[in-house]
Amino acid sequence: MRAMVLRGRDLKIEEVSLPAPGPGQVVGRVLACGICGSDLHYARFAGDLRYASRSERGVLSNADTAAGVVMGHEFVAEVFEFGEGVTGWQKGDRVVSMPILAPVGGKPGQSIGYSSEYPGAYGEFVIMSALLLLRVPDSLPDRTAALTEPCAVALHAVREAALPAPTEVLVMGAGPIGLLTALWLKNDGHRVIISDPAEPRRRLAKTLGVDIALDPTSEGSQVFSERPPEVVFECVGIQGTLQEAMEHVARRGRVIVAGVCMLEDRIRPLLAINKHLTLQFVLGYSADEFTESLAALAEGRIPGERLITRSVSLDELPAAFPDLANPHDCKVVLQF
Ligand SMILES: [Zn+2]
Repeated sequence: MRAMVLRGRDLKIEEVSLPAPGPGQVVGRVLACGICGSDLHYARFAGDLRYASRSERGVLSNADTAAGVVMGHEFVAEVFEFGEGVTGWQKGDRVVSMPILAPVGGKPGQSIGYSSEYPGAYGEFVIMSALLLLRVPDSLPDRTAALTEPCAVALHAVREAALPAPTEVLVMGAGPIGLLTALWLKNDGHRVIISDPAEPRRRLAKTLGVDIALDPTSEGSQVFSERPPEVVFECVGIQGTLQEAMEHVARRGRVIVAGVCMLEDRIRPLLAINKHLTLQFVLGYSADEFTESLAALAEGRIPGERLITRSVSLDELPAAFPDLANPHDCKVVLQF
């Protein structure tokens, strides 16, 4: 099959072998896959970092970019082939899945999209665990269904924040995760201020119903010194934004850190101590949050389609990667 392979730091379209389904696994023909900012970071920093993480559930990432990694974890696929013992699914069923493979035959669980053993969805076929498949409602277009994963990331950040009552919050960053976070917060009745230096993204945030969209480079500190938000969602993940979040948040406030900064970052602990702040780091989502995200997209509670600014083909994918930083783009989706 054809896939985009990351080798070292190069992204190239290559012919790779079609994955074979093990017991309890399903091979899906990829219909669409969102391009994720994490993949952009990963492609840039993979050569510097040992990207292996171990948890009590086993190895989640065994990616070795020298061996080649097919990334892509925000996918929707059509059931194509079944492994032993899979029941309840038919060829052609449209499905999404959390990007995880359940342990099989003594092999530990794996991530999908950060593994050199199994290909992710930046290719024609992807391997999934039948246990984790969710059926995509007919009314939901492929590329919108591909937003289930980032939508769940945002929902998880909001749920972890556990805001007791409707309040005013600041979301830093109007990229896909920031906007989806803002949309979930609006669903819960909060007043949402979003900040992003890019005008097209602020405009998009306004059309999505965010209360205030401001430019942190010119308006930020002034607004927050008058009425600091009690909770700030940091959805940028570059050096310096965590310190900025700590500056903006109210005394005794909380910063929810959803942005993934891949580099060492500096904060001034004295500021956090003086303000009695809590920094709360969040990652991933639960199976229930993933299911709820799919339902919210299908019901239109989260208007996912409006975040998608462009679809690209597999051949256009390597060039689309550096373009992600383009402020005129929000979510870019690979579509077959
Ligand atoms: Zn992602």
